[in-house]
Amino acid sequence: MTNKLKYFVGNWKMFGDFGSLKIVQKLNKFTKQSKLSYKKKRIILCVPNTLISFFNEKLKFKSISLGVQNCHHHQGYGPFTGSVSASMLKKAGAEYIILGHSENRSEGESNELIKKKIASALNEKLKIIFCIGETYYEKKRNKTFSVLNKQIKKSLKKNFDMDKIIIAYEPVWSIGSNKIPKKHELRKIIKFIKNDFKKVISTKKAPKVLYGGSVNSKNISLFSTIPEIDGFLIGGASQSSKKFIDIVKNYYK
Ligand code: PEP
Repeated sequence: MTNKLKYFVGNWKMFGDFGSLKIVQKLNKFTKQSKLSYKKKRIILCVPNTLISFFNEKLKFKSISLGVQNCHHHQGYGPFTGSVSASMLKKAGAEYIILGHSENRSEGESNELIKKKIASALNEKLKIIFCIGETYYEKKRNKTFSVLNKQIKKSLKKNFDMDKIIIAYEPVWSIGSNKIPKKHELRKIIKFIKNDFKKVISTKKAPKVLYGGSVNSKNISLFSTIPEIDGFLIGGASQSSKKFIDIVKNYYK
């Protein structure tokens, strides 16, 4: 158990329409009333591109931050049918952007491409939730650390503004599966990511590292006993205001 202010980032994936404003309003109200983190804005909701400006306009007092889930790597406008650039998303009201999510990596996004997207998003002063994580196949072959090292090394550049980058460790096998890592393994991995980042970037400052993968209101109490975790990326459970709020409440219980 800890009282330190943590990040709770919702990833709505392909979910939501204008009627989903209710969920956002409830989360916004809870955050304000609980005085948990509304000044520091540690509760963040990453929604589909179709909803970002609508939610932004509808929330009069914003105690949460809004973000999106991906962008095209090209800066500004260009001949990329169906794509949206970081600058378009910033203008629509995004403050955060998830990049490198395994669901996008599985559709062909490489570390090189993710690096270009991060550069483009940083250029627009968006804050990045940079996802890394191993597959089940890689875990079984003891490749977790080398996979994470490669993802960090190949997607980040030393001249990036690292204060704007939060890492989300999301083991691919844990996403939407109800399977979570063992506590001692997770602790070791989070420590590894912080140290590896410092080595790769040649910095003394460790990054913030979130955990993501099947987080719910029950298992959150286990995660709250791991002080190295700086917060959580929450997929399925963030699509319900009650589930999301219960996770936050139970964390601080
Ligand atoms: C995610 O997709 O980022 C995620 C963590 O999903 P879930 O919480 O549903 O496992």
